[in-house]
Amino acid sequence: MTLDRRKLRWNGWGWAHATFELGAREPAVWAYIAEALGRDKLARSPAVPLPDIHMPGSRLDQQTLADLQAITGGEHVKTDRYERAFHARGKSYLDLLRLRAGELGDQVPDAVVYPADAEETQSIVDLAVTRGLAVVPFGGGSSVVGGVTAMRGASQAGVLTVDTTRMHQLLTLDATSHTATLEAGVYGPHLEQQLQARGYTLGHYPQSFEFSTLGGWVAARGAGQQSGRYGKAEKWLLGARLATPRGPWHTESFPASAAGPNLNQLVLGSEGILGVITEATVRVHPVPALKDYRGYLFKTFEAGAAAVRELVQRQVPVAMLRLSDADETHFLQAFSGAQHPPGAATRIGSSVLAWRGYGEQRCLLLVGLEGEREVVQEAQITSRCICERHGGVSIGASPGRKWYARRFMMPYLRDPLLDRGVAVETLETSTRWSNLLPLYRDIDAAIRDAIQTNAADPRARAIVMCHVSHAYEDGASLYFTMVFPQKLGDTPAATLESAGAQWAAIKRAATEAMVQGGGTVSHHHGVGTDHMPWMATEKGPIGLSALEAVKRGLDPAGAMNPGKLLPPAG
Ligand SMILES: Cc1cc2nc3c(=O)[nH]c(=O)nc-3n(C[C@H](O)[C@H](O)[C@H](O)COP(=O)(O)OP(=O)(O)OC[C@H]3O[C@@H](n4cnc5c(N)ncnc54)[C@H](O)[C@@H]3O)c2cc1C
Repeated sequence: MTLDRRKLRWNGWGWAHATFELGAREPAVWAYIAEALGRDKLARSPAVPLPDIHMPGSRLDQQTLADLQAITGGEHVKTDRYERAFHARGKSYLDLLRLRAGELGDQVPDAVVYPADAEETQSIVDLAVTRGLAVVPFGGGSSVVGGVTAMRGASQAGVLTVDTTRMHQLLTLDATSHTATLEAGVYGPHLEQQLQARGYTLGHYPQSFEFSTLGGWVAARGAGQQSGRYGKAEKWLLGARLATPRGPWHTESFPASAAGPNLNQLVLGSEGILGVITEATVRVHPVPALKDYRGYLFKTFEAGAAAVRELVQRQVPVAMLRLSDADETHFLQAFSGAQHPPGAATRIGSSVLAWRGYGEQRCLLLVGLEGEREVVQEAQITSRCICERHGGVSIGASPGRKWYARRFMMPYLRDPLLDRGVAVETLETSTRWSNLLPLYRDIDAAIRDAIQTNAADPRARAIVMCHVSHAYEDGASLYFTMVFPQKLGDTPAATLESAGAQWAAIKRAATEAMVQGGGTVSHHHGVGTDHMPWMATEKGPIGLSALEAVKRGLDPAGAMNPGKLLPPAG
């Protein structure tokens, strides 16, 4: 099942017909956002429509186009405006700035090719190498780090974007071993539909689930919301098949092996620079009999973090732990309050909690449990005891149910915010438990300071919030969201320049704080173009040269996704 591209937003999130439903209270919600950002009212900053965007003509000669058509069939080689714009960029804040301004420069694919299988993909890669073209592997295009930007090297004649989404079948399910092999271009919902029809699940549900693919999850080393139970990509990938410039490559898929380093670790996080992943063998689980999501309030972020640490270190079988800091807890409550004004009972309940010490600094923890009925029921009792020991108070299943029902909806809010001159950006990292709180404070301070220094005007304010959403025995991730007024220009091109510079300054300050404070440059978004400048610090010179050697070994001509992951040599 391939999604009809034309039903998707080419310059924003998701289905073109879908929006974040604000209902009759929409004016109150925008008024709340304006007030929170220190604005009298929000601006108007519409996106440039598709016919008006600047786009160079395709650089491919007729022979190359004819050869591509011979590989895939004519209708699977696209050079029209919509396809080229849709595939020019991913979904990062900077991508959206460019797409909305209609200013793509020459970073537009010269053709978008949709292969049907691994063999066609290999033929496309081979042709690209022979003709001196760059190849950009493209799954859902939901990269938020510049991973699918249609870039080419100085000597390359053009860019072919290889859209993998025609490759979407479940190939084999080994019910005895709990493994499945699927084609890599399968979107999340279709993947789960095929597995669940047979009683199994991969359980990988990133917030981008509906519009991202298996190959993208592996290539970007992603994490689903229930990673506590199902694991991050590196935990569930067992083997892969790739079309590389050196030919087809299969990695091993043994349950365990001592035959040297596990080469799946090279495929995980390879971001398209080694080849196109055409198939992946993954660990699957029986569909859980019971799901239980509920909320706890803590007096402080520190207390909540201590509970999360104890839950994972005592190996309570949790699927999801999501601890919001005080700002995020406040925002979620205020935003929901603007949509649905709280009734008397809720207001009284909130006052009682405040009186008991769950006041301004209170933090919400969502605990998600999935699995066999008895295991979930027991984990529910244990997790409640642990939360209470750290001063947590149960607020029941309603917050968990609400979160679960709307878990893929928040991204739909970004486009209407941009239409009103409001930036939304996210950053994520991970570190050891012993460093989590100091790093949290350092990054938070760096973001606030950079937003203030680069503010559209001195009265502007920002919403900066954070949550812990992936926890391990040795540490956890920190995920920051920031919402701030954009520096707008008089024209879309001027806005791209001023808001782009504003973003770059904030991004640099936050990432420096992250890396210098002992965090990784990314926990699950990947590197792409945006985090590449920090790769040398994270990997060190020897580590980086080892990765470069692998790249040269598989892709001597540098055809695969140039300009991503590895800094240019020299
Ligand atoms: C609103 C939103 C929410 C998100 N939430 C999450 C989240 O919860 N967890 C998370 O991990 N990420 C999240 N992301 C980031 C993004 O969805 C992930 O990185 C995802 O794994 C990308 O999958 P994709 O199919 O869209 O890949 P793409 O964006 O198409 O590609 C990502 C990278 O992988 C490469 N690639 C893609 N397919 C292949 C292939 N078959 N072979 C080789 N290389 C390939 C591309 O070249 C690129 O470098 C989110 C993004 C958005 C916009």
